[in-house]
Amino acid sequence: MPLIFFNGILCKNIMNDMLEFIKECQEKVFSGIGISSDDAEKLFNISDENIKELARSANQITREFNGSKVDVEQLNNIKKNACSEDCSFCGQSAFFDTGIETYQLPTAEEVAIKASKAKKEGAESYCLVAAWREPSPKDFDKVCNIIKEINNKVGINVECSLGFLTPEQAKKLKELNVKRYNHNLETSKSKFSEICTTHTYDDRLKTLQIARDAGLELCTGGIIGLGETRKQRMELAMELAALYPEEVTINILVPISGTPLELQTKIANSEIVRMFSVIRFLLPESVIKISGGRETNLDDSGEELLQSGANGIITSGYLTMGGNDSEKDFKMIKKIGLEV
Ligand code: SF4
Repeated sequence: MPLIFFNGILCKNIMNDMLEFIKECQEKVFSGIGISSDDAEKLFNISDENIKELARSANQITREFNGSKVDVEQLNNIKKNACSEDCSFCGQSAFFDTGIETYQLPTAEEVAIKASKAKKEGAESYCLVAAWREPSPKDFDKVCNIIKEINNKVGINVECSLGFLTPEQAKKLKELNVKRYNHNLETSKSKFSEICTTHTYDDRLKTLQIARDAGLELCTGGIIGLGETRKQRMELAMELAALYPEEVTINILVPISGTPLELQTKIANSEIVRMFSVIRFLLPESVIKISGGRETNLDDSGEELLQSGANGIITSGYLTMGGNDSEKDFKMIKKIGLEV
């Protein structure tokens, strides 16, 4: 059978075809047509030998649409732990005994001091994150006061991640000049009920729509490495692309002791590169941010991903764990020829 007899030549031809296909997809992105879901699926399933080329091509798209600037953000977990939801990856869920400290909202002055420090350290945006299902009216008013204080005293882009919102709350955030609202899809629709039972995927989509309707920019994404299949990661990527968010945030699971996913095995590096690269093909203009798990899961703290489609990082720690300080991250960014 000729296919077996000429196996070496055949493999080489398949490889060349795939390189040609990546190039065609890139041309579609550059021309503004964009890639189809079939193209995205084929890119997702590219063989490991072609991953470098996929990443290189995604990097060229990033440079073309976003230049060499890396979007750097800092987070402030303004209400920590004891959340009423049961997201199985989360150390802040009241369902699991994780030993993570608990605190309620700090004063507006305290948060503004931290926001000012973040600005001095070079952060472009400052995201206020709260571990609850949704803000109570009383807590929402407190958060609004925090935002006003930051606006008056600091002058940094404020972003919020406050759980489910009412249309009135979203409008209020917009009035306060909040730039972007973060609400992650977490995982694909087909995986979601295994990860969370206290709310639905559609609940999450609803809040994103409310934020969009209020004129807020959207930041959404998820966590990879939850035990989902590659197909489900592709599903998530397609769902994100359909929302066309200004920012996509991708976390890589760090298993937290006490959560149902504490023994979850690490996702392969090639799968992480695939995810970031294909999202770049789907969303050429968006900020694609490497979020929680960057330092823990990646040996190079994200150098490779910043050259494979990503163009943003969170620096100086996350919601429940530390991370590289901004000086170290800025050095890395410079080292690979990018800028903040
Ligand atoms: S991911 Fe958010 S909603 Fe889910 S348990 Fe954690 S803090 Fe609560």
